Amino acid sequence: MNNLLTKHILGELENREKFQIDLLEWFDSHQRELPWRHNSSLYKTVISEFMLQQTRVTTVLPYFKKWIEKFPDFNSLAFAKEEEVLKGWEGLGYYSRARNLHKLSKIVSTWDSFPTDAKSWQNLPGIGPYIAAAITSISFNQKEAVCDGNVVRVLTRILACGEEFKDGSVAQKKLQPHAQTLLNIQRPGDYNQALMELGAIVCHRHSPCCTICPVQAYCKSGKQGDPERFPVLAKKKKSFQKIKRFWIESSDSLLLQKPKEGGNKLVGIYELPKAIELEIAKKGKILAVKKRTIGQVDFEESIYLTSLKQDCEINRYNMEWIKWENLNKITLSGPHRKWIEELKLKNSK
Ligand code: SF4
Repeated sequence: MNNLLTKHILGELENREKFQIDLLEWFDSHQRELPWRHNSSLYKTVISEFMLQQTRVTTVLPYFKKWIEKFPDFNSLAFAKEEEVLKGWEGLGYYSRARNLHKLSKIVSTWDSFPTDAKSWQNLPGIGPYIAAAITSISFNQKEAVCDGNVVRVLTRILACGEEFKDGSVAQKKLQPHAQTLLNIQRPGDYNQALMELGAIVCHRHSPCCTICPVQAYCKSGKQGDPERFPVLAKKKKSFQKIKRFWIESSDSLLLQKPKEGGNKLVGIYELPKAIELEIAKKGKILAVKKRTIGQVDFEESIYLTSLKQDCEINRYNMEWIKWENLNKITLSGPHRKWIEELKLKNSK
């Protein structure tokens, strides 16, 4: 791994400089128009970087627009209620990002000025090495290289790095020193964005567009014709989980559950009740079976149409009757909102 760069044409400073110039020229003329690049600000950069973690740009775009309208700066976000913040995030998933953003805003809104170094940013909620490098290079021109999944893909292909990594985060850590060596120190923020942009719109996971790639001259795997071999990640074992859920409705409401335990990732977000509370419900008929994958787990969730047993205490289970007309006012997990809309329509036919 250590020899990768020294054996490569980018091991020579002169070639690295040409590589950086070619990449930056391409970025200057081909970068996508994205709302956080328009009238850019530290706040927009922070919000976009949080939203873009594990989420595609096309998914983030409408959320970012609505978010900036509702919470235009750190202060407005700091003073918002947690319910409002979660509602603004509804459908984006990984809600800990929204909670961390909220906490971060409460801290930075008390500051007179912002720190410019990555280490200080890493002390804030939800900020790891990648986001700290992205924020400080883009907003403060700090010489910090980013190394996310896109950068890993581009660099392992350029270097034809055949080392097998346990997972993406191990690959990011291992490639980080190489990313740092290749960084353009005059325009670190633009360079970082250029490398990520290349990974997003040219060096695709499948069928990379090598013939139009601005750095093909430096790319070992592109020349060899086998870029899709890289990066080499160890195959992960998938697991499977079955979950039973209830559909319990009255004439004007639907019964929903709001997890409250601190360890639950969906704390504070409503969802259809789980069958773990079977003691409160009668046996019902199956209404729908939904499949989805989260990380390495394949879930199969069966939703049963049923009704409550008499005299059960729904409060004990963090359950609440939500009136149909109030469903849009609460925060539901993304898939649950889709399921509820679909099943409500089906039941009304
Ligand atoms: Fe990716 Fe191909 Fe460009 Fe290499 S030449 S960086 S594999 S698009």
